[in-house]
Amino acid sequence: NISHELKTPVGAVAVLAEALMEETDPAVVHRLSDHLVEEAHRAVRTIDDLLKLSEIESTSVGDEIVELGVVVQSAVARGRVVDGGRGVEITSLDVPGGVWLRGDERQLTSAVGNLVENAVKYSHAGDVVQVRTRVDETAVEVMVADQGIGIPTRDLDRVFERFYRVDRARSRETGGTGLGLSIVRRVAANHGGEVLVSSQEGEGSTFVLRLPASLVVPPPERSLIDLHEEQQRRE
Ligand code: ADP
Repeated sequence: NISHELKTPVGAVAVLAEALMEETDPAVVHRLSDHLVEEAHRAVRTIDDLLKLSEIESTSVGDEIVELGVVVQSAVARGRVVDGGRGVEITSLDVPGGVWLRGDERQLTSAVGNLVENAVKYSHAGDVVQVRTRVDETAVEVMVADQGIGIPTRDLDRVFERFYRVDRARSRETGGTGLGLSIVRRVAANHGGEVLVSSQEGEGSTFVLRLPASLVVPPPERSLIDLHEEQQRRE
């Protein structure tokens, strides 16, 4: 799978570069260069995601204390960048302040970020993406719901597989690598949790990252020095 996924963009880069060498018409040169850059970026994204996945698979979860609200905020920010003003609205609701988890901040940020990024990519302009969190005695949940194209029932089980795309052409258009949800699933498992999906084709999808409540820890004690610095900043 990996060699195929890399061979396609790298092969395209080679063909486009050769065509460019013989081309003199500035308009064609321009078009070929655009394609060349696009294919090169595709290869880079695939390599980046493969490295991320292999790092997540091979390292154990860092023993950090992570604030849930910060993870959600940075995922929402990433969604806005991906949207790039296309007009998908992202709202985050019910994010309780002061919920701290024992986990790996980079991994959790990457997982929730991937869910928000997908929700934006597979939505239409004007659709709303909602990010909600819920904390109870059994679990901490981050829910990402969109009103986008949805996923056919027959594909629901497979979307977490590496390089699986429901619609290859659509994923290509949106610059997808087909690895985002494999990363989410792996991050969930590393934290003793899971990722669930429900979807209706044409109506939207909801992904839930569900982590065990045992990860919740009391807020870290801040040192007197931290408090002093904070006080000074306020003044
Ligand atoms: P990609 O890089 O292609 O987005 P992912 O692993 O993140 O890869 O997702 C796998 C496939 O699942 C996507 O190609 C897309 O077909 C489908 N998918 C993921 N998230 C959504 C969503 N929110 N709405 C509709 N389809 C989705």
